[in-house]
Amino acid sequence: SIKTRFAPSPTGYLHIGGARTALFSWLYARRHGGKFVLRIEDTDLERSTAESVNVILEGMTWLGLEYDEGPFFQTHRFDRYAEVTQQLLDKGLAYRCNCPKERIEELREEQIARKQKPRYDRRCLGQAIDPNEPHVIRFLSPTEGSVVVNDMVRGKVVFSNAELDDLIIRRSDGSPTYNFVVVVDDMDMEISHVVRGDDHLNNTPRQINILRALGVEPPTYAHLPMILGEDGQKLSKRHGAASVTDYREEGYLPEALINYLARLGWSHGDQEIFELEEMVRLFDICDINHSASALNLSKLQWLNQHYMKSLDPTYVARHLSYQLGKLDIDPSVGPDPVEVVIAYRERTSTLAEMALQCAYIYRDFDEYDPAAAKKHLRPVAQEPLARMREALAGLEEWTPEALHATVEQVAAALELKMGKVAQPLRVAVVGTAASPGIDETLRLVGREASLRRIDKALE
Ligand code: GLU
Repeated sequence: SIKTRFAPSPTGYLHIGGARTALFSWLYARRHGGKFVLRIEDTDLERSTAESVNVILEGMTWLGLEYDEGPFFQTHRFDRYAEVTQQLLDKGLAYRCNCPKERIEELREEQIARKQKPRYDRRCLGQAIDPNEPHVIRFLSPTEGSVVVNDMVRGKVVFSNAELDDLIIRRSDGSPTYNFVVVVDDMDMEISHVVRGDDHLNNTPRQINILRALGVEPPTYAHLPMILGEDGQKLSKRHGAASVTDYREEGYLPEALINYLARLGWSHGDQEIFELEEMVRLFDICDINHSASALNLSKLQWLNQHYMKSLDPTYVARHLSYQLGKLDIDPSVGPDPVEVVIAYRERTSTLAEMALQCAYIYRDFDEYDPAAAKKHLRPVAQEPLARMREALAGLEEWTPEALHATVEQVAAALELKMGKVAQPLRVAVVGTAASPGIDETLRLVGREASLRRIDKALE
């Protein structure tokens, strides 16, 4: 049966590349009715933090990538790693080594000077080394033959065993090393498919050799190509948002980010929009692109707007409320954010942008946009504004229809075009020259605030 895993190291945020790995791994499991495991690879005690674990767990929840097992923590499994190390020792497939660091370094330098691949020379193999004295434990790596990885993305990749060293599986302080714990976990958790970044491809033959030594069939591997920045360069800080949290804070919907991540390297014809269910139905690792894919922010924005428009506005409004909260806006003082979503989803591509643009609905602004004020709040605007104020104060129903009719009537009475009335009114109420239709804008702001702001513009 199919079982995949996502195995992040909690040493920072949930990176966009990691999120894509998680998604592909999750999709593969879901597609085949299998299981998906979350494993926290926290053996690097110096760099792992509880904070980072939380960020990863939150990110997974936010993205909707539910796991069937876990989270497992490698730091909780040290006894098990020790047990497996002992099994390898007992079978003569691992050995103790107490060569001093200096000797290993010298050896290494000599080998490099002779243009050989650095490799431990097995001086300690077969020696009786006192287990109570400081030592490391090395895996007895095969020296002949090769390891063939039939990677689901990369195809057949062959590694010669002559290139591989007798890997240290336990350090002198007793802690297990990275490649070893991954192997024990993949074995114990019965992982059938390992989906991960191709920066791990070189670890794969080492892991396969250890798995074989333990008598288990290695899983199938799928190494995903890198994600590049928009400029085609390796992703780095200067490319801006790198963590899932950043995208949330910038006002992207998880649905949009998921769709976007899926398309970073995977395709199904030239289709761009995939609902999650559809993705689960269509996803296949064979359709993953072999070359690196580059980020494309405008595509993400386009997808985000698509989901803002197509998902239930009540749901989208929850995400808007989160953004409003960040601006210290309490939505209960104004219209239901659902109404704002409906009025603004055609006009903005992120919820952060939407929150900024609609802030005036919930609170008075401090300053007019200078260009808008200069253009529309000139002395000639005084009369239309004064007339509007009067008409609005007496308006019976505060509905878009009634508001629209009022603007029309004032414009007709003054023999002005609608815009000559609506624009000053808009700047007075919104602070800028851009908002939804003036009737809808006034309706959302409400009578009291509209009149207060018109008064201010008339001062
Ligand atoms: N912990 C590794 C990482 O975060 C992943 C290892 C794996 O998937 O095998 O890069």
